[in-house]
Amino acid sequence: MTKRPNEMTIGEAAHALRARSLTVRELWDTCAEAARTRNPELNAYLELFDADEAVIDAAQIRIDTEKEAAPLLCGIPLAIKDNILIEGHIASAASKMLENYRATYDATVIRKLKERGALFVGRTNMDEFAMGSSTEHSAFGPTKNPHDTSRVPGGSSGGSAAAVAAHLCIAALGTDTGGSIRQPAALTGLAGLKPTYGAVSRSGAIALGSSLDQIGPLTKTIEDAHILYEAIRGLDPLDSTTIPDDLYPARSISAKLRIGVPRHLLAENITPDVRAAFDAALAALEKEGHTIVDVELPTSVHALAAYYVIQPAEASANLARYDGVRYGLAKRGETLLDDYLDSRTEGFGSETRRRILLGTFVLSSGYIDAYYRKADAARAVLRREYEKAFEKCDVVAFPTTLSPAFKFGEKGDPVSMYLEDIFTVTANLTGAPAISVPMGTVEREGRRLPVGIHFTAPHQAEHILFAIGNAVESARNA
Ligand code: GLN
Repeated sequence: MTKRPNEMTIGEAAHALRARSLTVRELWDTCAEAARTRNPELNAYLELFDADEAVIDAAQIRIDTEKEAAPLLCGIPLAIKDNILIEGHIASAASKMLENYRATYDATVIRKLKERGALFVGRTNMDEFAMGSSTEHSAFGPTKNPHDTSRVPGGSSGGSAAAVAAHLCIAALGTDTGGSIRQPAALTGLAGLKPTYGAVSRSGAIALGSSLDQIGPLTKTIEDAHILYEAIRGLDPLDSTTIPDDLYPARSISAKLRIGVPRHLLAENITPDVRAAFDAALAALEKEGHTIVDVELPTSVHALAAYYVIQPAEASANLARYDGVRYGLAKRGETLLDDYLDSRTEGFGSETRRRILLGTFVLSSGYIDAYYRKADAARAVLRREYEKAFEKCDVVAFPTTLSPAFKFGEKGDPVSMYLEDIFTVTANLTGAPAISVPMGTVEREGRRLPVGIHFTAPHQAEHILFAIGNAVESARNA
């Protein structure tokens, strides 16, 4: 059976466009049509953009004239998370606060994608300001998981994940502060990459936790994740935290990889069938000649606690700018204080308010030593432990999540939602790159639900993540 154009990967579509078996217009139309048809049910997009005829024509001309030399992303329809600015379009971060905020410039990643001729289908739903793991915290209703619409797609980049998984675009960008690319990728059967901190510019991404945030791809294949990553990465004068290509020592690898598994962490409440899928994925890799080694990462058990001190602290500082004066929703009361209170009370949802309270508390003078500084110290220890582990392995592996996609409302208690991030937050705390790769499915109520395997590599060793991702893909297809 031949694939419909919207079902193609970036690699396949780029090839078909060059072979003239597909036009940019046809590719755009099938994605836009699928999005229009399916979105009322899934709510993956908060807004679908009109076709930009000039851009579509320009992409076609470029492919026709430059042929193989045209960028792979030329003419490829992408979905963009609603916290990444596209000039002239609304960027709401799925918050009432920014419901009508229109971006006045392009995020650096958007500028890079436009230069390559990429097309934008729309802006995707998310947890408000990227806080959450289910997309249920969006001010504009939750997104549904295309594999089972009674379940969440994960979050906070759940709209981007659902849009790619349901073929309402070819690939998407998300942001990841504690797992928001990798966890939704796992729960919808996609590859999701969180690049090394500083590898991709954050200029034009609505800030959540500035020492943790990274933009990255959600894609159907590892090859696509690689293509998108190469397109968006690089030093940027507009983001002083971006890093030169050679900041960290180069790591070469052989064809056979050493996979570090922290067995002591796996005792944690992983559902038995997810654990079985993980063990099967490792066994398949071993069969292909890769080796499994034991690694100790003792401080990782405290990573989640450290994250939920540092992230709210940074969020509370970043969200202080939404004061009803400078950006977004503006309510007018009797006094200036009323303006602030009314704007912020009406503009922010409950999870956002909870994080602001938590963050303000851990930064307050009486508690900063007990909470924020301790968590920050844990971060340095985590980083050292990983450096030590990478002396004897190329990547560290664990399941991306404890279980497959959960039902709407199932994690109403905030702490149970925070536990979703247990395996993903460490890479944000250390700044290391990490990827989630599909590792098969488990059954729930007669449906097959995707689950993911998670790999962390040393800083700036994304090439190792693509290598192991390809190894998982080929072992699964073997
Ligand atoms: N789920 C995590 C949180 O709620 C991570 C969010 C993210 O990566 N943006 O903070």
